[in-house]
Amino acid sequence: MKTTFINKAQAEEIIKQYPTPFHIYDEKGIRKNAKALREAFSWNKGYREYFAVKATPTPAILKILHEEGCGLDCSSMAELVLAQRCGVTGEEIMFSSNVTPPDEFAKCRELGGIINLDDYTHIELCREALGGTLPEVMSCRFNPGGIFQLSATGEGVQVMDNPGEAKYGMTEEQIVKAYRKLKEYGVRRFGIHAFLASNTLSDEYYPALARILFKLAIKIRREAGVTLSFINLSGGVGIAYKPDQRANDIAVIGSKVRDAYEEVLIPEGMGDVAIYTELGRFMMAPYGHLVTRATHSKHIYKEYIGVDACAVNLMRPAMYGSYHHITVLGKENRPCDHVYDITGCLCENNDKFAIDRPLPKIDMGDILVIHDTGAHGFSMGYNYNGRLKSAELLLGEDGSVKLIRRAETLDDYLATLEGFF
Ligand SMILES: *Cc1c(COP(=O)(O)O)cnc(C)c1O
Repeated sequence: MKTTFINKAQAEEIIKQYPTPFHIYDEKGIRKNAKALREAFSWNKGYREYFAVKATPTPAILKILHEEGCGLDCSSMAELVLAQRCGVTGEEIMFSSNVTPPDEFAKCRELGGIINLDDYTHIELCREALGGTLPEVMSCRFNPGGIFQLSATGEGVQVMDNPGEAKYGMTEEQIVKAYRKLKEYGVRRFGIHAFLASNTLSDEYYPALARILFKLAIKIRREAGVTLSFINLSGGVGIAYKPDQRANDIAVIGSKVRDAYEEVLIPEGMGDVAIYTELGRFMMAPYGHLVTRATHSKHIYKEYIGVDACAVNLMRPAMYGSYHHITVLGKENRPCDHVYDITGCLCENNDKFAIDRPLPKIDMGDILVIHDTGAHGFSMGYNYNGRLKSAELLLGEDGSVKLIRRAETLDDYLATLEGFF
């Protein structure tokens, strides 16, 4: 059973001050999980998690994660500036972007961050953007192509994704050439990065990816004369969105990556290589709720419950058909003997948080928690139909609630128009 980190009484108290809809984040959960991740990789001396800023680009959250030892993985000018404003600079910044504008390479360099090149042609583009020289440290992104698939014994296919269709990274041949070129250009320390599958629910994903990259690291040393300083496993560790799914065990994942490290890298005398991760979803998704109220009830060919949040506040169900669990606060123990579509107000029929979902009987005014919205939730927001982005709140470790981003206003919405108002 999935539980909420706020109950009905707390939600009613919060709503008196901050009207629905809003996103709320659980500081205690965030810190506990970040500590468990750090512990899982504590066997590796240089280990660092670079939180993927795009998942939750909210400074109050970035600061908590930074306090827990995380750097920041940025992919745009705005994300670099957010990192800078949060006091995160130097090698605590990883810049993993693609189709990169030149001024963003320059900004990353200015902040002392590590640039992770997405393509062979980026070597020259980056060099030009930086006035003819490259930084001392650089990373390259690898794409093995084909289909990436993992089967757990007796359990069928656990993970499947399609790197061959992904626009990111370099081929094996290109990446070896890239390291040779970078060395020629005076780069002194090197890393490698790959992201092969998203939202994986398997303790085997990171270990399998690690093995691929560790073997490639040996090949790179042999063929390019470059010894990698860090290997970045990027993001992709998933969470259990559905109540019947088994959550990943980060301690097991860390220990299996260690097994691979000891089997492949240590015998080659490469025991100094640092492991980096760039998790977004795993760090934040379970520690965010979208809180909304039931405002409309409609019976036509199906039963609809309209709520005051819409896809603008959480796009994943509309965009990917993603499942997000829903709890009706105060009715946790009632039988799920009604079947509803839970919808927002957009003039777009994919604006549904749930389709044919068994839930307890919903009355107007009931408070609904939409689970697992702490990553790729608020951040994917948009303004279709002139709908505004919600506030973000932080539930502190002491139980207090803080506004960390106010809701958008109509003035914000109108602010970029020229010559009319
Ligand atoms: C999106 C992204 C991540 C984070 O992915 P999650 O699935 O949230 O873990 C990490 N690195 C890069 C380069 C990304 O684009």
